[in-house]
Amino acid sequence: MAQDKVTEEYGSLLFTDADMQERLSKPTYKKLKQVINDGTPLNIEIANEVAHAMKEWALEHGATHFTHWFQPLTGITSEKHDSFINPREDGTVLMNFSGKELIQGEPDASSFPSGGLRATFEARGYTVWDPMSPAFIKDEVLCIPTAFISYTGEALDKKTPLLRSEVALETEAKKVLELFGQTPHRVYTTIGPEQEYFLIKEEDYKARPDLILTGRTLFGCEPAKGQELEEHYFGAIRPTVNEFMKELDDELWKLGIPAKTKHNEVAPAQHELAPIFERGSLAVDDNLLTMEKMKLIASHHGLVCLQHEKPFDYVNGSGKHNNWSICADGKNLLEPGDKPEENLQFLVFLACLVAAVDTHADLLRLSVASAGNDHRLGANEAPPAIISIFLGDALTPIVEGLIKKEHPESGERELMDTGVPALPNIIRDNTDRNRTSPFAFTGNKFEFRMCGSQQNLSDPNVVLNTAVAEQCARFVKYMEGVAPEDFMAIAMRFVRHTFRDHQRVLFDGNGYSEEWEAEAAKRGLPNLKTTVDALPALEKPENVEFFSEYGVLSASEAHARFVTKAEQYAKLLNIEANTMVYMVNHMYLPALMDYSGDLATTVATKAEIGVDSPAERALVQKLTDGITAISATVAELEATNAAAREVEDPLAKDEKIRDEVLPLMEKLRGEVDGMEKICGHDYWPVPSYNKMLFYV
Ligand code: ADP
Ligand code: MG
Repeated sequence: MAQDKVTEEYGSLLFTDADMQERLSKPTYKKLKQVINDGTPLNIEIANEVAHAMKEWALEHGATHFTHWFQPLTGITSEKHDSFINPREDGTVLMNFSGKELIQGEPDASSFPSGGLRATFEARGYTVWDPMSPAFIKDEVLCIPTAFISYTGEALDKKTPLLRSEVALETEAKKVLELFGQTPHRVYTTIGPEQEYFLIKEEDYKARPDLILTGRTLFGCEPAKGQELEEHYFGAIRPTVNEFMKELDDELWKLGIPAKTKHNEVAPAQHELAPIFERGSLAVDDNLLTMEKMKLIASHHGLVCLQHEKPFDYVNGSGKHNNWSICADGKNLLEPGDKPEENLQFLVFLACLVAAVDTHADLLRLSVASAGNDHRLGANEAPPAIISIFLGDALTPIVEGLIKKEHPESGERELMDTGVPALPNIIRDNTDRNRTSPFAFTGNKFEFRMCGSQQNLSDPNVVLNTAVAEQCARFVKYMEGVAPEDFMAIAMRFVRHTFRDHQRVLFDGNGYSEEWEAEAAKRGLPNLKTTVDALPALEKPENVEFFSEYGVLSASEAHARFVTKAEQYAKLLNIEANTMVYMVNHMYLPALMDYSGDLATTVATKAEIGVDSPAERALVQKLTDGITAISATVAELEATNAAAREVEDPLAKDEKIRDEVLPLMEKLRGEVDGMEKICGHDYWPVPSYNKMLFYV
């Protein structure tokens, strides 16, 4: 897009604040802003006027339909389109959209995962307008971001708990700020998600059932070249990909999504997009929309966008970094200022964060756990499965000094400054040199790096927000009854004790090293290596209590999420195992039989004319041995997978899959990949890693 067009078209497909101001009466606009900013309830008259304005705007922008856009527990977005049309008796048509249609929808909810919250016969589910996330137009459809709840008001989606956790954090953080003499209007989180993805050619994708059915390659021998030359990271972007990126930027900008940075990532065919951060749940919505647009726009360029965490073995997988901070009326509360050691308010929030992450490491780990992400976490390309915090060169000495009590208690009063100092920030540019930490302080925000590329970011942020809310509440309780003259000393003691008590989670070293695993075990940090190891965290009574105390998830909602997650793991791996069996029986074995058969004919024909062919003969034997081994393993995999499917208890089923099905899948892959190395090119039924990862 030309530069002047960018400013003109930015947000043109988003029902922005400016659009509302222009199209709504002054009193309605004011009331709507109160709903958005202060969370006041919305009445139907306001909804009717907003709906009318939204419809007029949407029609002017070519929309014919509307949809409630929501995020069921699958994590991806869902929509059902309804047209605005309302036929009249005279054969003409009106375009209608009421306030009721805006604020509430009732999709047939029976086919979405509910983790047992809802029996199919009482399948009612409601979508409820989230006025904090602006409506937008996508493919001639007015999309209204909504939360999705059951008839009884239980959350059936990813967004509802996120919004609830934002309320919890806001409530508790405001109490902390009040102790510092501040009464901000709003406290909210800011999130900047860096999204990694792969782009490959559509023709290759279409030739691989594993990519089509599971999003990742289940077979494929090591390519001749991988990422070892390190030339792809930040390298010149190939023209096809550049065209894709340009169109993507244009489309995102029209939707008001502030796409900012794009570059090639470490693995061949891997790329990244980072937007400018936005308010929490809006950033999560925009990330989902970005992922959807990526897939769509790739198809315009003969490409397919792979968002799986591990599309290819032998090269890096894809993650999504969740940059996170807390903000009070536009002021970043994690901004350390010039002298963090004297910025008591910053230290309180920092201490709360450290305690939050340490206390709920198991839930944080679970929030990013999936069958896909299990391939990354703990491998030497992504953070380990152990949660630790990197504070960096600027903050570590301060925290260590505090723990060692290097500042005398009496001196503290003079040292402290209770306000948020509006000072230039010296450590903003102190770049983070530790890419191995799962949770790193990067100047004025934390970066949670364990998230998977295809995951909905609601889950980790729900845990983070609620855990920090809990610590804020702890601080407020700690300060109860403290006389004003003692405030600073006691608050400082809170900071010091919190850092001391949670010191074990702080780690600035190499998170990829084996020493760290041993050291973390000594420190008593959980090391939940797989999704299955992490799952029980959601059933622990103290964790159930934690979510319900802050009104984020009731016990039944938490249990439903446990069941859904456990089932999803089993279902995904069942599909992967089925796909492997299918590919082996229908593609690989026939190919190997063809090739070995042709070779055997050659050997026989040559023998007829008296020519011995030991190399071919040996190859026929190798291929035949391979066929035998593969046939046995595929049968075993099929039987074991069938047995796993029979297990009723969700966790027991997942354990069986992890311990019995996964190893067989790996074994089968090894055997097939071994054959790929020696099979004739023209016989091999699917594109190789060499071809898929290195295209022009
Ligand atoms: P890096 O790759 O070094 O982590 P990037 O510039 O690619 O850095 O990404 C940083 C991300 O962090 C961007 O999305 C940016 O908008 C976001 N970010 C910056 N400040 C904040 C903040 N206060 N809160 C949340 N996210 C932030
Ligand atoms: Mg980053």
